[in-house]
Amino acid sequence: MRTLKVSAKGWIKGILFNVATRCGMWKFFTRKVKPPKILMYHRLADSKIIPGISSANFEAHLQHLIKYYQVVPVEEIIAGANSKGEYANKVALTFDDGYVDFYEKAWPLLRKYNVPATVYITTEFVEQKQWMWPDKVRVMLNATSLTKVNIPHVGTLHLSEENFEKNWHCISDHCLTLQESERDSFLQDLIVLLDVTISDFPISDFSALTWQQLHEMEKEGLDIGSHTVTHPILTRIDDKQLKNELLESKRVIESHIATEIHGICYPNGMPNDVSDAVTKVAKECGYQYGLIAYTDNVDKNNKLKTNRIPAAENTAAFAFSLLA
Ligand SMILES: [Zn+2]
Repeated sequence: MRTLKVSAKGWIKGILFNVATRCGMWKFFTRKVKPPKILMYHRLADSKIIPGISSANFEAHLQHLIKYYQVVPVEEIIAGANSKGEYANKVALTFDDGYVDFYEKAWPLLRKYNVPATVYITTEFVEQKQWMWPDKVRVMLNATSLTKVNIPHVGTLHLSEENFEKNWHCISDHCLTLQESERDSFLQDLIVLLDVTISDFPISDFSALTWQQLHEMEKEGLDIGSHTVTHPILTRIDDKQLKNELLESKRVIESHIATEIHGICYPNGMPNDVSDAVTKVAKECGYQYGLIAYTDNVDKNNKLKTNRIPAAENTAAFAFSLLA
């Protein structure tokens, strides 16, 4: 029932968006001064096993943004977070993790429309030393030839194509409750349970940007920030590890690029993942701002907990989310 209601709402929004943009009325909706917004993207992907926004939809997002908004660097929004008027109707684009599709798909479109963006990279991922663990789960689920599996603490999963996303969520949600070492051993057990093999380092669709690609894009105007060293949940690691994740990622990025790193984007970025202790260490490490991934109950004066809105795939939903 809920799905029906949600899809009916989406359908109505779609019609309203199409009619309003075609007859030039959308300008009316965006006319009223809106607070600045920071959009959160992860991947551009056109494959069923990779979560992300299609290149075509991303291009539609950019066309919409340059028509109705001022797209500015994220630091311009952070700097004016408390101001009104001058900073209204501004939008900034951010990309998390540092997957290679940013270079292959997003950056050419961002350049085409002359739109600034910031990418937040996980340094061990860029050094090609680790998988992003949720991808490992995707690859395993895609590779298994089993039709059913019983996973301790998760339950029995029916491994059909139509259950792919649901199964991935069941396993990933469980992983998010585990400490890092427990999660690694759970994923090792999962390899055996699903009867698959998996390479030590990410396969092509799941690999990271290289330093060379980052250099090239930086010269062309890309802004780069930190997304830690190994992408842990920062509230689940000890003080020493926390400092290392924040400081070492900054140091490594700065050793590769020409400018100082000002921003950190916290892994997962939900309320339980970013404590006051985390933002305190981020400040001590020299970060001027930190990005989270939720919008409720946010202190607008705390730049180390700056909120973002996820970029919806569907262009109408995307356009409506910017009106809030
Ligand atoms: Zn991330």
